[in-house]
Amino acid sequence: MAEFLTTIDKRKILHVDLDAFYAQIEMRDQPELRSKPLIIARDPTQNNGHGVVATANYVARQLGIHSAMSAFEAKRLAPNGIFLSPNFPKYKVVSAQIHDIFRRFTTKVEPVAFDEAYLDVTENILSGATLAAEIRHQILKETQLTSSIGVSHNKLLAKLGSEYNKPNGVTVIDHENQLQFLDYLPISAFRGVGKKTKEKFDELGIENGLDLRQMSQETLKTEFGKMGERLYWQARGVHFGAVEWQRQRQSIGKEETFDHALHDNNAVQIEFKKLVSSLIMSLKRQKLIGRTLNIKIRDDQFNTITRAITQDAPWQLNEATLVMASQATFEDNIGTEFSVRLLGVSMSNLQSATFEEMSLF
Ligand SMILES: [Mg+2]
Repeated sequence: MAEFLTTIDKRKILHVDLDAFYAQIEMRDQPELRSKPLIIARDPTQNNGHGVVATANYVARQLGIHSAMSAFEAKRLAPNGIFLSPNFPKYKVVSAQIHDIFRRFTTKVEPVAFDEAYLDVTENILSGATLAAEIRHQILKETQLTSSIGVSHNKLLAKLGSEYNKPNGVTVIDHENQLQFLDYLPISAFRGVGKKTKEKFDELGIENGLDLRQMSQETLKTEFGKMGERLYWQARGVHFGAVEWQRQRQSIGKEETFDHALHDNNAVQIEFKKLVSSLIMSLKRQKLIGRTLNIKIRDDQFNTITRAITQDAPWQLNEATLVMASQATFEDNIGTEFSVRLLGVSMSNLQSATFEEMSLF
């Protein structure tokens, strides 16, 4: 065990996170909003008090408003606040721009959300701090948006680092300063410490990382189960999880071979509907969305054509939209007389769907 602990983790990991992403985009596009409390949520007065805050600018945050709070409560805290409904198509375009910037620095990018990713830059000869500065510079130059970055040797510390100096900051956590950093961290900042766990720690008199580190592995296990085990290692800055840049498959698709060749557009459309609906189910199950729709057509002479339609923003997982695009591609590429043996639809350029996008499904 001792040897395990003294192994020096030589990786260079960044966690990049845009600051109040949706709100920042809206303020960029309407600078007069900068000085006002801006809440990205549907106005509860026009929505029977329903709705949840997606994000809020820092003016609103100073009034106690935070994401996941009910829009009604936000309205109570900021009666004169500006409520804007989220404009996901706009945010998706900016998100694609940002993720393109990440990929200039490494192929090892693990997207976490629209505005957030882990980057493994170990193979880059520049230091993590230099790369963080350059990434922040390029994001600002190309999107006029600020970001925060944590630089360290593992994902845990990189994430804690990006949160620590938010907004518009960089935190570098290395082997020399990691324990000092963790010791001062309030217990609620550790991964997985929610309201209930925090209450339990309050009862135990555990306030920060130093207190946590002084708890034995056994006590933590007894009190918190598996979570306790993870917290034991978190307090020591140990985390071996890899940046999962290859986690996603290259594409997800469905295809069907027909015993009896299809000869008319109607039959083709019916098959596209089946394929698209099953494709949408697979994507939803894996919480994925994609920017490229691929259509494959094979005739009874085994001639195969494939066509790809790539958009700037991911395709909406809407059956009618995807069937229409597939059918139009088919008709553009195949004459009026045909004998089709196989049809396929697939989605590539995949990314994980965030919570907000899931609600669009
Ligand atoms: Mg963010």
